[in-house]
Amino acid sequence: SAPFGLDFGNDTSVFAVARNRGIDIIVNDVSNRSTPSVVGFGQKNRFIGENGKSKESSNIKNTVSNLKRIIGLNYDDVDFEIEKSFFNKNKLVKLEDGKIGVQMRFKNENVTFSAVQLAAMYLDHSKQIIENETKLIIKDVTIAVPSWYTQEQRYAVQDAAKIAGLNPVRIINEITAAGVSYGIFKQDLPANNEETEARNVIFVDIGHSSYTASVAAFKTGEMKILGTGFDKHFGGRDFDKAVTAHFINEFNAKYKVDCKDNAKAVYRLLTAAQKLKKVLSANQAAPFNVESVMDDIDFSSQLTREELEELVAPLLQRIRVPLENALKQASLTIEDIHSIELIGGASRVPCLKDFITENYKETSRTLNSDEAIAKGAAFICASASPLVRVRPFKYTDVLTGDVNIEFGDGEFNPVFTAGSPYPSTKLITLNKDADFKITSQNGKNEVVSVFNVTGVPKEGAELKIKVRADPSGLVSVPEVYYETVEEYEEEDVDEAGETIKNTKTKTHQTKLSVSHSSPYALSEEKLSELTALELELAASDALVKQTEDSKNTLEEHIYYCKDKISSEEWKPYASDAELTKLSDLVNTAEEWLYSEDGEDAKKAKYIAKYEDITRYSNLIKGRKKQQEQEASLAKKEKDAT
Ligand code: ATP
Ligand code: MG
Repeated sequence: SAPFGLDFGNDTSVFAVARNRGIDIIVNDVSNRSTPSVVGFGQKNRFIGENGKSKESSNIKNTVSNLKRIIGLNYDDVDFEIEKSFFNKNKLVKLEDGKIGVQMRFKNENVTFSAVQLAAMYLDHSKQIIENETKLIIKDVTIAVPSWYTQEQRYAVQDAAKIAGLNPVRIINEITAAGVSYGIFKQDLPANNEETEARNVIFVDIGHSSYTASVAAFKTGEMKILGTGFDKHFGGRDFDKAVTAHFINEFNAKYKVDCKDNAKAVYRLLTAAQKLKKVLSANQAAPFNVESVMDDIDFSSQLTREELEELVAPLLQRIRVPLENALKQASLTIEDIHSIELIGGASRVPCLKDFITENYKETSRTLNSDEAIAKGAAFICASASPLVRVRPFKYTDVLTGDVNIEFGDGEFNPVFTAGSPYPSTKLITLNKDADFKITSQNGKNEVVSVFNVTGVPKEGAELKIKVRADPSGLVSVPEVYYETVEEYEEEDVDEAGETIKNTKTKTHQTKLSVSHSSPYALSEEKLSELTALELELAASDALVKQTEDSKNTLEEHIYYCKDKISSEEWKPYASDAELTKLSDLVNTAEEWLYSEDGEDAKKAKYIAKYEDITRYSNLIKGRKKQQEQEASLAKKEKDAT
């Protein structure tokens, strides 16, 4: 299967695939290089990606976005308090396990889907897009997530991938993936030896919902993330919100109508505000027109860039803390920095760029800032695959949370701390004489993983335990073993030629079995149940699509035949009886198609009607073609003589 790198964005996602020739961005079903991260539900099928976005305005309640913000998050988490304000009209519910679900009207029933399921639907859609476009099989995936994602969120994303039939080989931090892109594409990095100084670059990723800054040190073939800072709740959507609030006020004042509680009106204004914000990145002023905001009122206004900057001025200060935290964690100052590389759509806002330039350093945008994350993720996925050959590139990241571990004695110790590099493995030596559990907790003292170690000898042994902060930012225990020394005798010949016996020793390693479980990961049973459900939903969507396609084919053919008959184009090639029969068939089919019955029939019905008609139309078409060929042959022969 071809390695797939996914930049799972809050606004849009980008798909990249590693192929023999390199790493390619894969365009979606309408040939766009990025795909809206939305999932919608209808009476017959789901609308995912582009389709979901285009139906969103007429299907607000049953369209969900902000997928990456609710996956793995607890309903009672303070972060969700903030997130809620970005959902327009969805019915958000607390699930039995404390997680977030969304209630939808789907196939005329109320159905609740968990955030993990919704993300899985989106991932499955992306997989299908790539498979259709490339004709390759997609299985292995590296998914890019924010650096601040907890282990819990990472497990949830892995589960979503599994439900979508994907194999999540890595969960990678978005900004780290962008750094990898920088590292593999830049040709002028310092040589990789002791003498050279690394090139320190700050990456600033301001996306739709979140902002991350990381300091990375580069040498040829190598990158080390030295520090990371973030603001989980700062991004383009905050600008959209500020602009929308401005126009809601203006609308209310102008028309004495309060539209802020009207979901549709707010949606319309928000969409227009986002568009306006983008236009103002390249222009000094722009009109703002929204038809029929509410009560049939058309709204026309405008905004200058200066006015926008006033509206968002309070937001700009929020650039500081993450960037400075990243520097602090890296133990560097801005003077040590070679460049500040901007990625993420919202970093295109001119006043954001200017703020960074004025307060820190000139910014640059040398990467393709919309595609660097997906490409880096695909490269990392390819590196982990034995099937694709890639240049070696080493990188390390830093943990954003503490990891406390206890080894069966109830005493938790910080084995990995926030700010320390990973992937990283530690070897712990312990005496044990019975099976035991290793438990890891996050910084909030919540249990994240339990490792059950079995096979400890009764007589006791000194165990070597490898614990790892793995490349996905999760804790693993790759190995637990003990050593036994065996003495044996070996015959040798001494200088005098006498046979003697030497005592030698041999060290045996005995590996113990380790099984992992996490309260944050779905059980195998639940996973297979949800995988089966997703397969079923995808098959049913496909059937709806095929049914629509066969209906369209029938409709088109009806008009094609009607045209040929009425223009008398087929008259020379068919008997009157045949034409009358065909006419009858076509007219009855047309009538049926627009009846209640034909509006919503089974796929086989449309195909059957189509075949009824083509039995005649193909015959006539065939005769026409044959006669034309004969005529042209005759003409050629005549010309030749
Ligand atoms: P996140 O990183 O938060 O998950 P994302 O990856 O989907 O979200 P991006 O695609 O990096 O986000 O950026 C999308 C944001 O950038 C949106 O808010 C969009 O309106 C904004 N944006 C895109 N182009 C421009 C532009 N030219 N000027 C201003 N803002 C822009
Ligand atoms: Mg992003």
